Amino acid sequence: MYNVTLLPGDGTGPEIVEATRRCVEATGVKIKWDVQECGIEVIEREGKVPPSVLESIRKNKVALKGPITTPIGKGFRSVNVFLRQELGLYACLRPCKTYKGVRTYFSDSNVDLVVVRENTEDLYAGVEFEAGKPGTADLIKKINELATGKKITTGLDTTGVSIKPISYEGTRNIANFAFDYAVKAGRKAVTSVCKANIMKYTDGLWYDETRAVALAYGAKFEWSDLAKGVKPDAKLAGNVPDTKGKLEYNERLIDNMCMQLVQKPELYDVILLPNLYGDILSDLCAGLVGGLGVAPGANIGPDGAIFEATHGSAPKYKNQNKVNPTAVILSAKLMLEHLGEKAAAEKLERAVAAVIEEGKDVTYDMKADRNDPTAVGTSQMADAIIAKMGKNG
Ligand code: NAD
Repeated sequence: MYNVTLLPGDGTGPEIVEATRRCVEATGVKIKWDVQECGIEVIEREGKVPPSVLESIRKNKVALKGPITTPIGKGFRSVNVFLRQELGLYACLRPCKTYKGVRTYFSDSNVDLVVVRENTEDLYAGVEFEAGKPGTADLIKKINELATGKKITTGLDTTGVSIKPISYEGTRNIANFAFDYAVKAGRKAVTSVCKANIMKYTDGLWYDETRAVALAYGAKFEWSDLAKGVKPDAKLAGNVPDTKGKLEYNERLIDNMCMQLVQKPELYDVILLPNLYGDILSDLCAGLVGGLGVAPGANIGPDGAIFEATHGSAPKYKNQNKVNPTAVILSAKLMLEHLGEKAAAEKLERAVAAVIEEGKDVTYDMKADRNDPTAVGTSQMADAIIAKMGKNG
């Protein structure tokens, strides 16, 4: 029996999460759900995320989460970002796979890749200076005094500044996560992506460290030149499995990666990126395989993990039993893998894939015509997935 925190979220979240809970239970894995409300209504009433939510996730170490609305312009921080930061969930995992029956321009491409995104550093660290504020002008003056050879030449009062911190330790953690995942999931290659030709001290550091981690795993470099002068990461070498050349390490610059993905996505496997590029590229990859309705995700840290879809709360469809539960169900499949329930995870994924391929008991967004009257509701799609597990389980 596993203890798992269940966060229904708000908007369409509770309907999707309930459908997912039923699918997970139908796999036969025994779970005691600790249901914690932290949707927008609760946040607005209490003015913060209830402490019991964090306590529950810290205790259980695993949570399945529905989307939570972030009100625009009301001064609330995103609860989603808050949870990731509070719990130190530094790794964001987003698998993107084509399932037969999903309509996409890339249906014939056999896409099966995994985006691993660093979740805490980079321009998302929130270290920002607003144009026109005295502190911003002081910062610009200070930067211009420093002998880096580069100056900010635009107006002291008309320039905003965002800081991009990237550290060796943050990069080591996420690269180690990506290689560890690749080994355990039987993947073949890790592609490290950034823009090191332009940002030498942040993205350059990123490549230095991802190469050192790749060497610690004994990965084979696509171009041996990349490994010249690089030593295996001293903190990891000897403490991680040496794949003895079974895993390949390669690098792409982010702009080239975008083009490569829309031309030959089937060539890529695990893609490792810093926060901002990772955010953008994971939406591109979700688009390759059919969009938000089928894009699962996980946020993972040393002390816990939250499994949730990429999509938001789609509030206009609230209480209509209408939206697609697939992305949260596939997030639950990742959760089962994380719990070590590989067979149950595969059973659940096979059932989802079979229902999508048949194309009968699917929600409106998966029909060729979005007004197709034969589209089923959230709950009925879950029923069809459960029935498939019964048949093929
Ligand atoms: P959204 O993902 O909720 O909706 C975007 C579009 O996709 C809409 O047209 C919606 O109808 C459709 N869509 C979304 N999920 C779907 C599903 N499961 N099945 C079928 N169609 C689906 O994005 P948004 O409208 O930008 O955001 C709504 C709210 O959700 C915002 O407050 C946002 O901050 C929040 N949000 C939360 C999370 C999270 O909880 N992790 C993630 C993204 C957005």
